[in-house]
Amino acid sequence: MKITPEPTDCLRCGACCFSQLPTYVRVTGDDWVRLAGAAERVAHFIGHRAYMRMSDGHCAALAVRVDDAGAAEYFCSVYAQRPQVCRDLARGSPQCQAEREQKSDRRPGTMR
Ligand code: SF4
Ligand code: SF4
Repeated sequence: MKITPEPTDCLRCGACCFSQLPTYVRVTGDDWVRLAGAAERVAHFIGHRAYMRMSDGHCAALAVRVDDAGAAEYFCSVYAQRPQVCRDLARGSPQCQAEREQKSDRRPGTMR
């Protein structure tokens, strides 16, 4: 198993916000209400269900900034209003570790 070092914080990771699946982040009715004015911008319906929009291989609400040293920082632009599924993924949990292992080569726009 590939060992990925523990990030100092989620700002240096962002792995769980990456996917090529258009239905990766489910947005429930309660989530949509919590997103309020941001809902139409960051989420949309696919069939009868709502999901976060995906862009460049990650959730469209994820903002990525690369500093002068080339290190990326990842910000959830709707952090206080993020969907429940994002709230439920605890940093350091087995799911978090699996995300980091599976997506260790993530890069915006290039993730496979
Ligand atoms: S919860 Fe885990 S996988 Fe998600 S950004 Fe934080 S450290 Fe990375
Ligand atoms: S809503 Fe925020 S925490 Fe959830 S996947 Fe999108 S960017 Fe990541």
